[in-house]
Amino acid sequence: MKKYNFNAGPSKLPREVMEATAAACLDFEGSGLSLMEMSHRAKNFQPVIDDTVALFKELLDIPEGYSVLFLGGGASLQFCMVPYNLLENKAAYLNTGVWAKKALAEAKLFGEAVEVATSAESTYSYIPKDFVIPTDADYFHITTNNTIYGTEIRKDLDSPVPLVADMSSDIFSRPVDVSKYALIYGGAQKNLSMAGVTFVIVKDDCLGKVSRQIPTMLDYRTHIKGGSMFNTPPTVPIYSALQTLKWIKKSGGVAAMERLALERAKVVYDEIDRNKLFRGTVAAEDRSVMNLCFVMTDEYKELEADFMQFATERGMVGIKGHRSVGGFRASCYNAMDMEGVNALVACMQEFEKLH
Ligand SMILES: *Cc1c(COP(=O)(O)O)cnc(C)c1O
Repeated sequence: MKKYNFNAGPSKLPREVMEATAAACLDFEGSGLSLMEMSHRAKNFQPVIDDTVALFKELLDIPEGYSVLFLGGGASLQFCMVPYNLLENKAAYLNTGVWAKKALAEAKLFGEAVEVATSAESTYSYIPKDFVIPTDADYFHITTNNTIYGTEIRKDLDSPVPLVADMSSDIFSRPVDVSKYALIYGGAQKNLSMAGVTFVIVKDDCLGKVSRQIPTMLDYRTHIKGGSMFNTPPTVPIYSALQTLKWIKKSGGVAAMERLALERAKVVYDEIDRNKLFRGTVAAEDRSVMNLCFVMTDEYKELEADFMQFATERGMVGIKGHRSVGGFRASCYNAMDMEGVNALVACMQEFEKLH
């Protein structure tokens, strides 16, 4: 049976990305060596890093003065590296979900970290709007896409202080005005690559302003100077990121990714809103186009397990909602196609007919 992969992360990647990565793991570009057993200092590996950085800059139109880094530790290590490198007196955080809250908790280890607003009281079902960013903060941190709750900030905010964004689950899903950000980071395993690499886009002149000592490996400047090669970088995940970026470019770039994301999301949300069995869980204006969350309406609540089984039997994978929200979550990252979302919608319609 054909499987439709709606996993939240690690998640669906384009077939050709996996084929190219698998081929390189057997024989890297005719070298007779596997990518897995090659030196990261090998002459033929350097172009992999260089091309990946170049495509990051090209596809996101990253201005001069920014560095692109590939690190280990996941987005979760960035929760600590960001305040380590940027927090001198005070930082401000928008608390829009579990990941945002974890980022805020780490910042508190380094100084004053204030929550400017939160939607925690309503299980993070919306993005707070009327907040004031303190002008004396060293930076303001946001999570652009809340993977667990299915809300998203799809525009680049104006901030009076340097803006830092966790874009783990929506990077490369829309054009971004990088010049509005001091730092953007994310784990690759949602929209970019297999697990194992973290990307950081950092404005160079934001660094070197804190008075504390920073351990070498946690100092962004180490990795800027070393070209992400201070220590051994995750070579295979970087290679697979490069394949994804080539695929995005060939498919029309981030503008095309955005068009497809909006198209997919519309088909699924329209069905959620139309179908008497289901309802969305978040404010309509804040709906994520990456993670589409829905539950059964109160009247049909007892059918939840039945629908889960029904959908699983028809090839849907990974649609169970996060335990903190319940219900269902269809993660539709860049590699998800219309065939996948149409199969999900057909499933919802067939199930409705049975009830
Ligand atoms: C998945 C996710 C994380 C955690 O990423 P790790 O790489 O597992 O540390 C952080 N933030 C967001 C928005 C995520 O979706």
